[in-house]
Amino acid sequence: MAQLYYKYGTMNSGKTIEILKVAHNYEEQGKPVVIMTSALDTRDGYGIVSSRIGMRREAIAITNEMDVFEYVKALPEKPYCVLIDECQFLTKKHVYDLARVVDDLDVPVMAFGLKNDFQNELFEGSKYLLLLADKIDEIKTICQFCSKKATMVLRTENGKPVYEGNQIQIGGNETYIPVCRKHYFNPMISKEK
Ligand SMILES: [Zn+2]
Repeated sequence: MAQLYYKYGTMNSGKTIEILKVAHNYEEQGKPVVIMTSALDTRDGYGIVSSRIGMRREAIAITNEMDVFEYVKALPEKPYCVLIDECQFLTKKHVYDLARVVDDLDVPVMAFGLKNDFQNELFEGSKYLLLLADKIDEIKTICQFCSKKATMVLRTENGKPVYEGNQIQIGGNETYIPVCRKHYFNPMISKEK
């Protein structure tokens, strides 16, 4: 039986590398997959899945209006798996559509993304994936300032921590850092600069 997987991790936890690895494993066996990403994330180009270590692939860009269920249903060949990057940016409807891909089309869906935003609130996509997913996994990484597990995302602008602002802000001069809870509130960042 197909399942809906939600695999969350903080910044730089290797989510995209994992997607590319899973896709490679299927394709090596001649099993086609569909790779999708949010159209909101244009950091590396529209409809591109890109990892920090330089691997990248084209992906189907999911716009807010897109009906993901109808898209997968209309594909000429039924995929063995649907892989989604940046799933935190999905809408509630997208997540319900993905659940139907699993239940009605019997195609597994693996959604990768952040869980909490830089203010420690759930993204819309994260919230509904937590509610609907069959399997939930954490992709772990380490705090930038110590060796504890990073569970939060710290936004910095010009090297200084920021705790307020729009949830989604892409293409600015901000940087996101994976941190543990302690260092979220007390990041070891020089106030100079
Ligand atoms: Zn820490």
